[in-house]
Amino acid sequence: MRALVRDQHGVRLAQLPRPRADQPNDVLIRVVAAGLCRTDLYVARGLLAARTPVVLGHELSGVVEEVGAGVAPLRPGDRVGVLPWIPCAECSECLRVAAQPRALRCTHAAMLGVDRDGAFAEFLLVPEECVIAVPAGLPPLAAAYLEPVAASLAVLKADLHPGQRGLLLGENRIAELTRRVLAAHDFHHLATWSAGQPEPEPGVYDFAIETHATPGILEVMMRALKRGGLAVLKSRPASAVSLDVRKAVLRELRFHGVNYGSFDDAIRLLASGRLELDGLLGPVFALEEYEALFAHAERDETAKPFFSSNSAEAPTTAD
Ligand SMILES: [Zn+2]
Ligand SMILES: [Zn+2]
Repeated sequence: MRALVRDQHGVRLAQLPRPRADQPNDVLIRVVAAGLCRTDLYVARGLLAARTPVVLGHELSGVVEEVGAGVAPLRPGDRVGVLPWIPCAECSECLRVAAQPRALRCTHAAMLGVDRDGAFAEFLLVPEECVIAVPAGLPPLAAAYLEPVAASLAVLKADLHPGQRGLLLGENRIAELTRRVLAAHDFHHLATWSAGQPEPEPGVYDFAIETHATPGILEVMMRALKRGGLAVLKSRPASAVSLDVRKAVLRELRFHGVNYGSFDDAIRLLASGRLELDGLLGPVFALEEYEALFAHAERDETAKPFFSSNSAEAPTTAD
């Protein structure tokens, strides 16, 4: 199969053996659409430690091709999305029977496209517990948008309420998606701020959400918050970011890092039509056009570009 691989020489298109669903819980997925995100760019540029070599990509939708002997009720032909973290099955969280889904609690979870082979390929092998059925009628690009939506839904885990004064920092896809996810949950009075704009009014916000942590952006966020206000940390920078702890302590700010909301809630939200996707889902490229896709991603941070490796089912537009 064709796959986009990163090794010590950089990113290249490679021919790899097609994986097989040999283990009882294996699911082999034929990838229909796979979105590019910041994490993929970090891995491609060598900014984020990753397995070498590794097939890039972790946001996808596809069709079940083959299932292991123990998999039920998933069957070949089913349309699916994927939770892109694979639990280790050995840590104390994984061994707690009640800890479901294990992938988001596991202390050693492996991320697709980083720690193990990912979605920028014709086929992808994952354990059954990471596969999520996609409702009929949800287009392939929207289904491949599952992981970013689940990541944005994470902000609802923080103690924020629609009646409060909130500030969303950042000018990128994640900021815009988070704004729309919050709008779908009745947060209609959220101020936004991005670098280069006049600084937001200081000391007035009940909560603030960052989507691209830099020392400067964290400073702006802390100044904007009320005393005791809630700073929601949402981004996953490739390396450590410094923070003025003294200022945070003097003003008794609260910090809450949030990673993912529920993937089931995310798929329901996508299927409900309540989440406005217009303008968020960008152009579709073949795997062979990876250089063009990466160039697009460097240029345009508004709409997410996608790969489609299976021409028979290839979506051609965002609809
Ligand atoms: Zn992502
Ligand atoms: Zn584990």
